[in-house]
Amino acid sequence: MKIIAIGRNYIDHAKELNNPVPKKPIFFLKPETAILRNNKAFFIPDFSKEIHYELEVVLRINKIGKYIDKKFANKYFNEIGLGIDFTARDLQKECKKNGHPWEIAKAFDNSAPIGTFVNKENFPDLKNISFKLFKNEKIVQHGNTGEMIFDFSEIISYISKFVSLKIGDLIFTGTPAGVGKVEIGDKLTAYLEEEKLLDFEIK
Ligand code: ZN
Repeated sequence: MKIIAIGRNYIDHAKELNNPVPKKPIFFLKPETAILRNNKAFFIPDFSKEIHYELEVVLRINKIGKYIDKKFANKYFNEIGLGIDFTARDLQKECKKNGHPWEIAKAFDNSAPIGTFVNKENFPDLKNISFKLFKNEKIVQHGNTGEMIFDFSEIISYISKFVSLKIGDLIFTGTPAGVGKVEIGDKLTAYLEEEKLLDFEIK
């Protein structure tokens, strides 16, 4: 399986990092080794002094597809969850400056903690799903899928032009504003609507 993650999908987040608002989705990949499950602790790697959390809604693909039409894209995922797209912001800045790929900043081991998933049928309106992240019990990010620049269908359709989707693939759909640094001893807790899906420590 693979993880496909969308960059700059919320206007307020693009702005906070001084990035232009994209006209087409921007995506990058994380490997399977990035996944961290079951609320296991995340250990800050020694190669970065600036690991940022990015809370994102995650889709789980349940059907093989390529060149998926927007109209049918919602048939290609069955579950929705939450994940953190951990980013070594200091390394990412360096990559951007040099025009290099982002992998060292985005694809490292355990950079994609994911929680349990919820059946898609539990959400009456896919364009109105709220989610929020608390750091040490204080809210740091809150978003709603209605604020995405590219919605689930557009993302799936666009990605599948370039990369075939397979069962079990995960799509991280972008983060809203409020990204920030984690320190040893922090605790991250995340909710999809009212359901707590992530709750783990930084070590
Ligand atoms: Zn992200």
